[in-house]
Amino acid sequence: MDVRGAILGARLSSFWMKIHIPFKRVNWITTWFLILTFVIAVIGAPLYLWHYGIDAFQLSLFVFYFFATGMGITLGYHRLYAHRAFKASWPVRIATLVFGACAFENSALDWASDHRRHHKHVDQEEDPYDISKGFLWAHIGWLFFKLNAQTPMDNVSDMRKDPLVMWQHRWVQVIAVVVGFFLPAALGFLWNGWEGALGAFLLAGVTRVVVVQHSTFFINSLCHTIGKRPYCSDTSARDSWLMAILTFGEGYHNYHHSFQHDYRNGVKKWQIDPTKWAIWVYHKVGLISDLRRVAPEKILLAELKEARAKAEAKIAKLAEAGVEPISCPRWHNAMESLQELRVSFSENYAELEQAVADRARISRKVLDQWRAQASELVTHLAAMDRLQAAYA
Ligand SMILES: [Zn+2]
Ligand SMILES: [Zn+2]
Repeated sequence: MDVRGAILGARLSSFWMKIHIPFKRVNWITTWFLILTFVIAVIGAPLYLWHYGIDAFQLSLFVFYFFATGMGITLGYHRLYAHRAFKASWPVRIATLVFGACAFENSALDWASDHRRHHKHVDQEEDPYDISKGFLWAHIGWLFFKLNAQTPMDNVSDMRKDPLVMWQHRWVQVIAVVVGFFLPAALGFLWNGWEGALGAFLLAGVTRVVVVQHSTFFINSLCHTIGKRPYCSDTSARDSWLMAILTFGEGYHNYHHSFQHDYRNGVKKWQIDPTKWAIWVYHKVGLISDLRRVAPEKILLAELKEARAKAEAKIAKLAEAGVEPISCPRWHNAMESLQELRVSFSENYAELEQAVADRARISRKVLDQWRAQASELVTHLAAMDRLQAAYA
C-alpha cells in the first residue's frame, strides 16, 4: 500500500470511529427493507416507466393503494386505534387493519403503543421518535436501531381486547406481503400478463409503500420542525398546511398534540384534512359513530392562552432590555397598540376561562370576535419582530 492509500485508510477508519454506528444494535431486517424498497422505487420504477410507460390501470391501482394504505394508517392506526377518536363498524376496522398492514409499519398494536408513548413523553428520552435527537432520527433513524431495551407494551391493554386487532398483530407480515405486494401483481398479471404484473408490483406495490411510509415519517420529523404553534408552544409539534397536504391532514400537529382525542387534526373548516373528511363521510353513511370533538370554547381558550403567553414574553423581554430598541414613531405606536390589545385581551380571557370552567356555551359570533382578536395580537407581535429586525 502506498502512502496515499495508507492516509485514505486512516481517514476512513477515523470517520467510522467518529460517527459511532452501533452495528450490534442495528435492526437489520427493517434497515434492509427500507433501503431496498427505496432503491427499487427510485431506480426500478423509473426504468419500468421509461421502458413500458404507464396506462390507466396502473395509475388507478397506484392511487387506490396509496389512499387505502395511507388512510389505513391515519384514519385506522392513528385516529381510531391509537386515540379512539371515534367508534367504527367492522368493515371499517377490517379495511383499516388490512390496508394499514400493507404500509409495512408493523401491527396496529405495536404502532399505537409507540405512538401513545410519543404523546406521553414528547421531546423526552422515552419518546421513541424524539425530535431533540435530530431530524433524521425522528424521521427514520429510530427504525434502524434497537438502542434501548425493549419497552413493555403496557399502554395498549384496551386494544388487546379487540380480536380483530390481535388477529392483525399475529398475521401482519403475511397480510402485508400478500395484500400489499402479491395482490397488485396478480391484478396486473390479469390485466397485461408479466409486464402488467411487474408494473403493478413496482408502482402500486413498492413505490407506493415508500411514498406512504415517508409521508408517515414526515409526521414525526417535519411536523415537529416546520410550522406554527398556535395552541401550545411547550412542545415541538407544529401546524403546517403544507405538511397537511403531504400527510393526509396530519400536518396540524400542534392542535393534535394539544387535543389528541379529537377526530379532527385540521379543526378549522378551511383546513386541509382528508382523513377528517373521510371520517365525516363514513359517519354520515353510518359506518362510524361517536365522533369526539373538543368544545370550541376550550380550543379558543388554548389559542388565547398561547397568544397571551407570547405577548407577555415579548413585553418581559423588552422590559429586561431596559431601553427601547427602536426610536421611531412606528415603534411607539406599535407598543401602544400592544398594551391596548393586552388589556382587552385579558378581559376576554378571564370571561372565557370562567365559561370553560362552568361548561357554559358562548355564541359563535363572540367566539369569532375573540378568535380574530387573538389572531390580531399574534400578527401584531410578528410585525413588531419584523420592525425590530429591520432596525437592528
Ligand atoms: Zn407528534
Ligand atoms: Zn397522535
